[in-house]
Amino acid sequence: MAQPLPSHASVVVIGGGIMGTSTLYHLAKMGVGDAILLERNALTSGTTWHSAAQVRALRHSRNLTRMIQYSVDLYAQLAAETGQSVGWIQEGSLSIATTPDRLTHIRRQAALAQAFGIDATEISPAEAQERWPLMNGSDVLGAVWSPDDGRVSPSDVCAALVKAAKSLGAKIFEGTGVTGILTESGKVQAVETTRGLVTCDAIALCGGLWSRELGAMAGAEVPLWPCEHFYLLTRPIDGISGNMPTLSDHDNHLYIRDDSGGLLVGCFEPMGKAIAPGVLDETFEFGLLAEDWDHFEPMMMNALHRLPALEKAEVKMLLNGPESFTPDGAFMLGETAETKGLFLGCGMNSVGMASGGGAGMNLAHTIIHGHPAYDLSEADAKRFAPVFNSIEHLMARAPEVLGTHYDIAYPAKQLATGRDLRVLALDAEHRAAGAHMGQVYGWERPLYFGKATEPRLTFGRPDWFENVATEVRAAHEAAAIFDASPFGKIDVEGPDAEAFLLHVCAGYMARAPGSVIYTAMLNARGTFESDLTAQRIAPDLYRLFVGTTAIKRDLTWLRRHSGTFDVTLTDTTEAYAVLALMGPDAARIAAEVGAPELNDIAYFKQGAAHIVGRHVRAARMSYVGEAGWEITMRAENAPAVYRALTEAGATPAGLFAQTAMRIEKGFCAMGHELDSDVTPIAAGLDFAVHKSGGFIGATALAQARAEGAQSHIASLVLDDVNAVPLDHEPIYLDGTIIGETTSAAFGHRIGRPVALAHLRQGVDDQTPVTLDIAGTHYAAKIIHGPICDRTGVWMRRSSAVSA
Ligand SMILES: Cc1cc2nc3c(=O)[nH]c(=O)nc-3n(C[C@H](O)[C@H](O)[C@H](O)COP(=O)(O)OP(=O)(O)OC[C@H]3O[C@@H](n4cnc5c(N)ncnc54)[C@H](O)[C@@H]3O)c2cc1C
Repeated sequence: MAQPLPSHASVVVIGGGIMGTSTLYHLAKMGVGDAILLERNALTSGTTWHSAAQVRALRHSRNLTRMIQYSVDLYAQLAAETGQSVGWIQEGSLSIATTPDRLTHIRRQAALAQAFGIDATEISPAEAQERWPLMNGSDVLGAVWSPDDGRVSPSDVCAALVKAAKSLGAKIFEGTGVTGILTESGKVQAVETTRGLVTCDAIALCGGLWSRELGAMAGAEVPLWPCEHFYLLTRPIDGISGNMPTLSDHDNHLYIRDDSGGLLVGCFEPMGKAIAPGVLDETFEFGLLAEDWDHFEPMMMNALHRLPALEKAEVKMLLNGPESFTPDGAFMLGETAETKGLFLGCGMNSVGMASGGGAGMNLAHTIIHGHPAYDLSEADAKRFAPVFNSIEHLMARAPEVLGTHYDIAYPAKQLATGRDLRVLALDAEHRAAGAHMGQVYGWERPLYFGKATEPRLTFGRPDWFENVATEVRAAHEAAAIFDASPFGKIDVEGPDAEAFLLHVCAGYMARAPGSVIYTAMLNARGTFESDLTAQRIAPDLYRLFVGTTAIKRDLTWLRRHSGTFDVTLTDTTEAYAVLALMGPDAARIAAEVGAPELNDIAYFKQGAAHIVGRHVRAARMSYVGEAGWEITMRAENAPAVYRALTEAGATPAGLFAQTAMRIEKGFCAMGHELDSDVTPIAAGLDFAVHKSGGFIGATALAQARAEGAQSHIASLVLDDVNAVPLDHEPIYLDGTIIGETTSAAFGHRIGRPVALAHLRQGVDDQTPVTLDIAGTHYAAKIIHGPICDRTGVWMRRSSAVSA
């Protein structure tokens, strides 16, 4: 007889694939003894059972790499821990390059691997050929060898995780489908199942490609969509004996490995196939989709080129299994914005086996402690705008995301599908000025202006270099307008507005109306949840400006900490446009457009004015290090104000110019220099959090201050004007890696490439270091503080003009 379903469990895990079983295991390990897992069919019967299950450690960021490294360590010891073999085969992986840009790409990866402590070395084409004798290596230009990569048996890993979890008290219920999720006041209360109701405190939603519909049961957005994913299996062939490394031929969109004496050839073709709604219903158990040889044919041709032995091999099957993809190619982990107690662990983008061990650990950690074991904002469940969750968008975007899996990581590359989801009030004006658009949180945002053709993708100097140079020159020598409208905006209103913000922000928020306050929201660990600028408009009204992609996360954080404070929180992002008018001519332009009073606004103050009869609020501050204002207005007034400013001589500038100028000024940005692993002390932003106490994170911050910074953020200037740093390049001092770059650009005001970096040790100002860019070391100098205008006189220039 089936074991009875409990009436209550502290945590209900939905889904018995790698994500669900790993999460259950880690919950049990972390002391949650009464967690249960509900699987509507049999364990692993969704996507996990047919996974190729390769585990490649290296990712593009330190923490994702760290997370997969955790999976590697876990899988390597699970058999010893549980007595259940997991089929862990650690034969390494070989990445080959057949184009110069791919070679640069894999060299950049190898350089990064060094920084993350992962063994990855460049080898010659001849050595690559030796490691994969069956390969046609005639066009191979170079390769990187990663000896620690491996693969597992997916079902056996899940069995081992389940065995260990059960031994610690966890319970598994197969044949138990979740049919509904009950919530009250936006919080999870219970799950309805085919076998009755279970009340719970939290749900770990690990339902694989079905997670979107499960999330909808609780009113939550889970933007993922399934695509078909193919691999070819052959019967045993000559030349394969024992296990071999995985061969990654990403220029040809292929991964290749041995399988039971034959070959397994999988692909991430340039444009995948989305699966129509309704095809994968609850009866899809250990299911596969139909072979599609027409679709696979171009990949087959690539495979025949790489593996001549395939010509004579007997094909066992063309496996076609479903896998889910998200709009940006990263998975989703953490509590949803919409529903408290609903935690996502899904959207694995075809690296679910590699990620599963570490992602399950982090999900369990988040459920128990409220945050992952280290910053995983790139996988944050709250990072997608609601527009990303539409079926139409997902069906267009997911196939392209599948195709980008093996893309060369060119800087500034944009996705082509799912565009024009959100357009700025000045969209027509920007396009008329030749804007090249990039998508940020769904917004189409000008990256640079004067576009003639599509940009050439390159690791070298981009063909928009001069466009950006012109925009920076305008902002530095005359006046430029940056459209900063996509900033997230939150109005905090009510009698307790000041008290509330004193509680959630680490800076002094009680400044008089008319003030502008740059500060941080910290968590209890004293690290960054967000950095923001607040404008105090009235005693009971503040407008917060947060990062474009941070709005959902920050609004949720504010709402969940508003407790008994008498405040109303309103997302006003779409109601207002923001134009940053920057440069020495800004003062003249303000006078010319009928708003000379802007010149009376002191630094870090704001005030109301009228431009061509339209009400605006101007804050004197600068993200680019020039004199001027960030001018907020109702979105519908933006065209008239913009016209007046441009007619008076301001010229449009885009996001690339803004970013380059930010880096030159040493201004940190969330997601680059700042995240939930970094304290304001390490970031050198102590000035923005100097309050005696009484705010979230105060105790931890005081402790961090007393201990002194363990890591640092610093600027770098490179000697070679032709070097093109991007970010994530290791920094060497006397042969030792001391950190990595976090943002980089060409600094047009100083005429040198510049970067910001995390350093793991303190070094003196002006210390010479080298930067490893794709295997070549470039000389650079560490600079503490801004690289240009170190005393900030440029930013105050126009006050001087008006004075
Ligand atoms: C062909 C192919 C090759 C792959 N190769 C690799 C690889 O080499 N390396 C790698 O890392 N990854 C690979 N992947 C990806 C990897 O297999 C997946 O990312 C991973 O298996 C997803 O695991 P999951 O737990 O998120 O989802 P699933 O395994 O699909 O588990 C979700 C479970 O939720 C259950 N469920 C759904 N709805 C309900 C409900 N209402 N109530 C209860 N239960 C429900 C389902 O029945 C299912 O068992 C590959 C994928 C494919 C398709």
